[in-house]
Amino acid sequence: MIDKHDAYDEVLAILDQTAKLLGWEEQDYLRLKYPEREMKVSIPVEMDDGSLQIFEGYRVQHSNLLGPYKGGIRYHQSIDLSEIRTLAAWMTFKCAVVNLPFGGGKGGIKVDVTELSKSELERLTRAYTNMIYPIVGPDTDIPAPDVNTNAETMAWFMDTYSSLRGEPTPAVVTGKPIELGGSLGRADATGLGIKLMVREICKKHKLAFKGARIAIQGCGNVGRSAAKHLHRSGCKIVALSDVSGGIYQEEGLDIEEILKFLSEETGRLLQDYYSPGIRRIPREELLIQDVDILIPAALGHQITGELAPQIKARLIVEGANAPTTIEGDKMLAKKGVIIVPDILANSGGIIVSYFEWIQNLYSLKWEEYDINQKLETIMVEAFNKVWDEAEKYSTSLRQGAYLIALDRLITAAKMKDLEQQTIHEYRHSIQSVHSY
Ligand code: GLU
Repeated sequence: MIDKHDAYDEVLAILDQTAKLLGWEEQDYLRLKYPEREMKVSIPVEMDDGSLQIFEGYRVQHSNLLGPYKGGIRYHQSIDLSEIRTLAAWMTFKCAVVNLPFGGGKGGIKVDVTELSKSELERLTRAYTNMIYPIVGPDTDIPAPDVNTNAETMAWFMDTYSSLRGEPTPAVVTGKPIELGGSLGRADATGLGIKLMVREICKKHKLAFKGARIAIQGCGNVGRSAAKHLHRSGCKIVALSDVSGGIYQEEGLDIEEILKFLSEETGRLLQDYYSPGIRRIPREELLIQDVDILIPAALGHQITGELAPQIKARLIVEGANAPTTIEGDKMLAKKGVIIVPDILANSGGIIVSYFEWIQNLYSLKWEEYDINQKLETIMVEAFNKVWDEAEKYSTSLRQGAYLIALDRLITAAKMKDLEQQTIHEYRHSIQSVHSY
């Protein structure tokens, strides 16, 4: 059950609460309460049977205080403008917490991808690109993959954008196939980042990283790559789930075999996987398994106030965006569960997106080893900053992350206001000189 609220109210509440802690006035951060631009489009798509269907799409640009808007495009039947607006704001915070020169944006199409053929999806993506073309671009707004979109979707997006613009423009999207200007390490970046965050939080809590017992909810790009990296580092992934259900194995699942099974054919689900040692669990029970660490890496609003009391993990590392509701968060805090928040934990993807964008802009090709090293440096530094901030204010890591992000954003806003004021004063002084 999803706790009932408009998700964007959460953004507003967090802004107020964090700015108050930092001692800023509402005037100082008022602009962050309002998304700068919202576009809603009706996308006509010719279906394989010749009929015409109209899909609803969005692109929300929340803030470009720190740089061009950046954020993924998701395809899902449940999305609406309010959700995309909220996710766009989280992207603003995410970029700020890891100190990237990007603002926040998010896009989406209301569609059930399982009901469309590949060519219908391609036509949908190309038509959507066409419609949001006026507001995106390598210097203005740079989309990327998100839920149910991938490198192929980004290739269609880039190709359509480049044709409209009349020149190859790889830097307009990130998360592309390597052959089309994608970056080495991008596909696995979010998962690698999650592994780093699990490692760091284990260190702080004196929990052995090797052998830590972990449950992962979700087998999309994030869940799979997190499982792969954690398993290869010696953690025990004891439970895993996807839309079809969950599987559990006390001595640790054979992640390499499972990932191979899932990737052999598209559309394969965990319910089709069989191995003698596994026990099947209902999908909803994944989150309440008796493990050391829980990684929600599916959709948002999974850990609700109702579910939180049943959670047994001591540590949660949020792979998905907004997997914990405000009520869920409060309950977990009462229980003493430590959460590495989404805007930090899953920032690996956007960090390597940043590297991809730089490589595209300057026609560079970086080695995967260097990319992963740079990713690690940025994420570990951000983790330590968030940790210290949370200690300083005796608060949660989530609040610590918001404090860092908002301080950077509000400081930038104040500087811009100062600049405006200086320009205004300068103009005013010239006018006064002329009037003499
Ligand atoms: N969709 C990812 C996220 O939510 C990646 C965004 C990007 O690379 O721009 O962080």
